Amino acid sequence: MSQTPLLPGSIGVNQQPITVGVMGGGQLGRMFVQAAQAMGYFTAVLDPDAQSPAGLISHHHIATTYDDPAGLQALCAVADAITTEFENVPAQALLSLAAQRPVAPNGACVAVAQDRVQEKNHFNACAGVSGVRPALFAAIESPEQLAAVPDVLLPGILKTSRMGYDGKGQAQVNTREELAQAWQRLGQVPCVLEQRLALRSELSVIVARGADGQTVAFPVQKNTHRDGILALTEVHDSAVDPALAQRAQASTRALAQHLGYVGVLCVEYFVVDDGTGRDTLVVNEMAPRPHNSGHYTQNACSYSQFEAQVRALVGLPLPEPVQHSPATMINLLGDLWWPQGDASAAPTTPPWDPVLALPGTHLHLYGKLSARPGRKMGHLNITGASVAQVRQTTAQALAILGLPSLQALAA
Ligand code: ATP
Ligand code: MG
Repeated sequence: MSQTPLLPGSIGVNQQPITVGVMGGGQLGRMFVQAAQAMGYFTAVLDPDAQSPAGLISHHHIATTYDDPAGLQALCAVADAITTEFENVPAQALLSLAAQRPVAPNGACVAVAQDRVQEKNHFNACAGVSGVRPALFAAIESPEQLAAVPDVLLPGILKTSRMGYDGKGQAQVNTREELAQAWQRLGQVPCVLEQRLALRSELSVIVARGADGQTVAFPVQKNTHRDGILALTEVHDSAVDPALAQRAQASTRALAQHLGYVGVLCVEYFVVDDGTGRDTLVVNEMAPRPHNSGHYTQNACSYSQFEAQVRALVGLPLPEPVQHSPATMINLLGDLWWPQGDASAAPTTPPWDPVLALPGTHLHLYGKLSARPGRKMGHLNITGASVAQVRQTTAQALAILGLPSLQALAA
């Protein structure tokens, strides 16, 4: 990849101002486009959906499938460098783009993140340098492998090796019978069975790594899920023990370096008891892109995870990001449009005005044209002068929106 930065406003390969391209037009692509445009770049989005959140606001929108050679060629015709906003873009498409343009992250790295078996093998291969291992697991691709899983993996969680997100493609299994039934239900596709751990908490870390190998880490996120979907992220010293945070950052840097990764990478961790009552980290999975848990960076850090994605892609400097305020992030799902819980009724717009009357609230909506229960519609970042103030504002915002309280989310 070129080390010479692609400076905004300079003229690119197609006699147009430098244009950054992104595979995928969802909310992550939209926030990448917004960050790139704020810095003066032109943008191009490839996404088959004519109404995609990123495509709607981009200079160029190529509405083809991700593996359509004509679409990929059209993207190369306008974009000087290309990134991705979701891990399930065919790795082959990224490899073919890379023959013509700088692509970050590259297809090989994305391929590892697309497959839980490869991902866990990567984690184990770097355990010596990262200091973290994944949960015990077995790959299940055949009835023989199903029969051979060791007892220690039960109770466990069966997960499809590919295409899982937001807890989809997963089943909790307690016995061998339940395991066999769950694998049947998942269509006997390649899966992994993971030992189910008693989680004390969940953390994630965003790092950005440039083509020159320089790697920076954002402050560590503490994540709370509800029904398999991220509900709340908290980033401050009272949420994450600083020593544990430092270990998580060091591990994440090592995992990115070992892959020769370029771009923004998010790694998710479980915090579990090490057997002596102390916290230890188990690595769960990684996303080769900005992550829902990193959205707080937009309002609480010297630059955001999306600006980091732009910088890494175009070869601009990556100074160590600084958090200037304690922060939380509340995910805003489509359910909020039906406060009575009856999604057959007409949707109503959530009460944004009292939420925005609270100090330090920053509303981000993704421009999705219709709400659906469970659909990620936006997020609310909350910043403040102190942890106490941020927690108080978060509690008030949750109450106004009719969401579970901080205590209920923590339970
Ligand atoms: P996403 O892409 O939304 O992060 P996903 O569908 O890829 O999620 P995972 O992150 O693997 O799935 O798991 C979702 C959640 O399930 C985790 O955040 C955690 O709460 C729980 N979970 C997953 N694996 C385990 C495990 N081995 N032991 C205990 N809990 C687990
Ligand atoms: Mg996850």
